[in-house]
Amino acid sequence: MRLIRNAVPKPVKVLAVVKADGYGHGAVQTARAAIAGGADMLAVAAVSEGAELREAGIMLPILVLGAVTAYDVSDGVRYSLTQTVCSPEMAELCEKAAAEQDKQTKVHLKIDTGMGRIGIRHENERDRILETLRSCPHVQLTGVFTHFSDADGDEDGIRYTRKQYERFLQMIEPLPKGIIRHCCNSAAIHRFPEMALDMVRAGISLYGYPPVPDTFGLVPCMTWKAAVSYVKELDADASVSYGRKYKSEKPIRTATVTCGYADGYHRACWEKGYVLIHGQRAKILGRVCMDQLVADISGIENVRPGDEAVLMGKCGSESITAEDIAGWAGTISYEILCSSAGRVERVYT
Ligand code: PLP
Repeated sequence: MRLIRNAVPKPVKVLAVVKADGYGHGAVQTARAAIAGGADMLAVAAVSEGAELREAGIMLPILVLGAVTAYDVSDGVRYSLTQTVCSPEMAELCEKAAAEQDKQTKVHLKIDTGMGRIGIRHENERDRILETLRSCPHVQLTGVFTHFSDADGDEDGIRYTRKQYERFLQMIEPLPKGIIRHCCNSAAIHRFPEMALDMVRAGISLYGYPPVPDTFGLVPCMTWKAAVSYVKELDADASVSYGRKYKSEKPIRTATVTCGYADGYHRACWEKGYVLIHGQRAKILGRVCMDQLVADISGIENVRPGDEAVLMGKCGSESITAEDIAGWAGTISYEILCSSAGRVERVYT
């Protein structure tokens, strides 16, 4: 957070995106770290995530990125969350909830400039919302934002992002002055500093995985470890794990490791993946099971039950990143970071 804060010009606010349990790093701890590093605002996807932060005593402004729903709009008001509106009906829901609680509530308007997800696309929708808001005395419009769909893309993605930005500027033109205008995600913070406007929204970069080449000196935050639970010799032609997908061609030594797909380790990693034991790569053999995986330690000396197996992070001179695992599993680093499950103990250093 501090590195991003220092890289973004001072008048621009920095919002830390801590949705999805802080991209799998723990929402409360991540939020506290982000605040210590200079965050001006936090963002979550849902009201329940904002409530968790408030219950933990976090008082910084929190934006709920998902659209207002009748289901939890009252909680959003109660927890003083800034909610996202993209229809007159959503503005009215906020007004009703805030009036019932005799409170003022803040909202940001979401504009869809090309993501095709939530948000208004046309001037007439914008004007209708602004008109509705004028008759909502308990609702204060404090911000407006859009989201880029291809800011980390190729030349075409760059052109598309510029178009999205231009469209955003057009759409916000008649909005009241002084509200916070924001559009940049991590990729755009790096690539398009000229689009920073009043605030940027840092997500994946906060966790050390900028989606485009990094000039801020970011490093991955998460290390993921398990333990060796068993070591054994297997004869040639022995099979390992379900479906007998792996068969040893020669005698090998294996380590069973206490991590499986129920811990959030992707089952799809088995064909290409490895773990690090004693600073060396140990290839995953056969399918990843629910709670265990098996690795080849034939070339690694003195491995014993209780030894550390690094699934993600550094070990000696070797390291495995979320991007490496994403490559084995055919997905993106975001999904890998978000996937470690509840039973994986978290230790903050
Ligand atoms: N803003 C919005 C609306 C988002 O949905 C997200 C993430 O999905 C972000 C910002 C952060 O994006 P990134 O993690 O790429 O920085």
